[in-house]
Amino acid sequence: MATSAAQTRVPAAGLEGRGLEVRYGDAVALAAIDLRVGPGEVVAVLGPSGSGKSTLLRAVAGLEPLAAGTVTWAGEDLRRVPPHRRRFGLMFQDHALFPHRDVAGNVAFGLRVQGLPAAEIRARTEAGLAAVGLAGFGARSVRELSGGEQQRVALARALAPGPRLLMLDEPLGALDRALREHLVDELRALFARRERAVLLVTHDHEEAFALADRVLVLHAGRVEQDDDAATVWSRPASPFVARFLGYNVTTAFGAPVAVRPDGLVWSAAPGPGTVAVTVVDRTFRRDHFRIRVATATGETLDVAVREVGAPAAPAPGTPGTLALAPGAAVALP
Ligand code: ADP
Repeated sequence: MATSAAQTRVPAAGLEGRGLEVRYGDAVALAAIDLRVGPGEVVAVLGPSGSGKSTLLRAVAGLEPLAAGTVTWAGEDLRRVPPHRRRFGLMFQDHALFPHRDVAGNVAFGLRVQGLPAAEIRARTEAGLAAVGLAGFGARSVRELSGGEQQRVALARALAPGPRLLMLDEPLGALDRALREHLVDELRALFARRERAVLLVTHDHEEAFALADRVLVLHAGRVEQDDDAATVWSRPASPFVARFLGYNVTTAFGAPVAVRPDGLVWSAAPGPGTVAVTVVDRTFRRDHFRIRVATATGETLDVAVREVGAPAAPAPGTPGTLALAPGAAVALP
């Protein structure tokens, strides 16, 4: 960027990371990361294990030294602002609750650090617990709580000091499916209530799309795609993103395309524009069958089979054909 443009740039509202780089010894954990989270915006950092998600959160929080790049809030450089003065709330993956404090003692922690008067600490602790559905839990020992309740206490603790940015590391990571679905709804409601910026990291794309307005996909410490959630989901920008989201990446129909399992149509009969395949595996999903098929060239593809009234899906060994559903293929570079 030209110097004059940089000097006249209007500062972004909210969080902005530019050119962030983190190294562990000789290893580059994050390289050239640009990141923005506006007020009221929920951004998910999505990527597989080891892609740098937690490192990015810690770097933004000021807990990880930057080898290069800047973190600003509303244009203010945070380089010399220590983590506890950034007004960012951080909820770690393992909750990291203080086991010897009761629930209220955990939630009040950040308020005590701020040195607020006792009456205000009490009031804000109670409000924080009420916000996560744990009103009246203050005197309980955190060791008596279920995993889901501990998660809520950790969330209340991060929220209580009124952070301008809330950062969540795998917020639903350790919970079972039913609880996760419930908490997703609660988190969405909580995010919607305030004009607060939220940055969350997750390896679970369903969680990212359920919670976030914008999704930034990380791969080996670099940004693969940064778009609104619907665009990432419907137009993955690279083969990596496509595969990570559960698309097939295939040249079986000609040019390289990404296609979701429900964009492929299985048939036992040959037809125009179809590709000959053989079923190699079959599994039952919650509301459909998933078959894996192999082409004559040995490519394997996952296909959703939903026909109502069909006698289940074809068994391994069954020959058939695949066609692309209209509009299902996404062109890839
Ligand atoms: P994710 O959160 O996506 O699983 P991490 O941010 O934890 O990824 O890790 C990114 C990369 O940095 C990995 O290769 C990991 O092994 C490495 N890494 C993370 N923390 C450290 C550390 N303290 N020292 C050395 N390497 C680390």
